[in-house]
Amino acid sequence: MRFKTLSQLKRSEPLKIILGNLPKSILMAEYARAKAFKISELVREIFKDSYEWYGFTLANPDHPEFIINIGLPENNMNLQDYTTLGSMKIAEFHESLPKDQIINGWIHSHGALNYKHFSPTDEKNNRTVLDFVAGGTRKPLAKKEIPIQDLALLEKNRFAEKDLEKGSVSLITDKPITEAKIMETVYGSFCYSIVIGDSGWHEQQIHYRERSILSGHETVWRQSTNIDFVDTRKTLNPEEIQALANEVKDKIQPNLNPPPELIERM
Ligand SMILES: [Zn+2]
Repeated sequence: MRFKTLSQLKRSEPLKIILGNLPKSILMAEYARAKAFKISELVREIFKDSYEWYGFTLANPDHPEFIINIGLPENNMNLQDYTTLGSMKIAEFHESLPKDQIINGWIHSHGALNYKHFSPTDEKNNRTVLDFVAGGTRKPLAKKEIPIQDLALLEKNRFAEKDLEKGSVSLITDKPITEAKIMETVYGSFCYSIVIGDSGWHEQQIHYRERSILSGHETVWRQSTNIDFVDTRKTLNPEEIQALANEVKDKIQPNLNPPPELIERM
């Protein structure tokens, strides 16, 4: 058999029905922004110098795309622990959260440095956080057809073992059918990553993961984006600032004699 053109060899496009979308920009309460910069300010006030810190961005499980708060975990500023922001650490912090809050990303400060980029170490941490929060931010994005060239249709209790040798996939139904499409769900997850500086700058990315449930096909990518700030009329009151100051004292232990490699990892 000869084909006139190669285009005749093309299979028809698999059916795809869009069910949802992942966020294209970051949605953040003004309160959460104020709290992040307040932490940097308190670090400078308490430790008499500018130091890095990191925290998690928090959301309500019903609105995982909206950052409503910042959570401060125990910050181990020694090189070893900080560079390996491991899933154990995130899990530990997640356990301590009230039931109506989930982690949807992480935020860290580059202090007084004018280094407004994500370092290679930050990139590793981005992936770790994405893996951890993916379950909480997951949503169905599409139903997609799995093209099966030789689907074998069988009827329940009416086929022999030999019939299973036919076809790459067998579909067993309770009544005889002549045609079937297999549609799999494509799930999408995301995690936010924000880096801030003492002078008020911030840079941010969204990290995405798409995974098809049956074929196991997975794509991971990232995108630099903006933050849309939302005024929720919640402001940091003096009691909260006092409580935050105590948290900073308890949880942040700056490394006062950082080894030279410390700069590289930022
Ligand atoms: Zn960094």
